Amino acid sequence: MDPVEQLKARFPYMFMGKTVSLEFHDGWLPTFAETCEQIDKLLGENKREFRWVQVKEKFGSARFYFRLGKSKRVVIDVIDPQEKEGHALIKNATRIGDAVASRIDAIVDEAEAKTQMICMLCGADAQTRPFDGYYWTLCAAHAPPVKPINRPGEP
Ligand SMILES: [Zn+2]
Repeated sequence: MDPVEQLKARFPYMFMGKTVSLEFHDGWLPTFAETCEQIDKLLGENKREFRWVQVKEKFGSARFYFRLGKSKRVVIDVIDPQEKEGHALIKNATRIGDAVASRIDAIVDEAEAKTQMICMLCGADAQTRPFDGYYWTLCAAHAPPVKPINRPGEP
């Protein structure tokens, strides 16, 4: 069975209802599966209508967006004009004063950070780097060659 189908069969409640989009990358699937397991264990008997609403890649990092009942976490992306680097800068808590919600936020934070060191294609060690203005997290084997800069006048 397809690993995504396996996860859906294991944790059906996480994949119920409307989603924005679920885009999975092979190299990050084990991290996502671990995240599902950790959250499932944490929730215990009461799943509190937890579900994934969007899974995607942004700035070379996986992004796992979820809802917990009526609450969701707001993430605001910022592009640093100096470094031309994009990253999530503001992450608002899913529900202040809710220990389970805080723990889920922490699990997701950790998983997203982990994907910035894992090749999105094969799961090998990698680093997020810019390639032609786009950020990707790719291992040495999967990284496209960086184009040499053509400097006029140089031999
Ligand atoms: Zn790779």
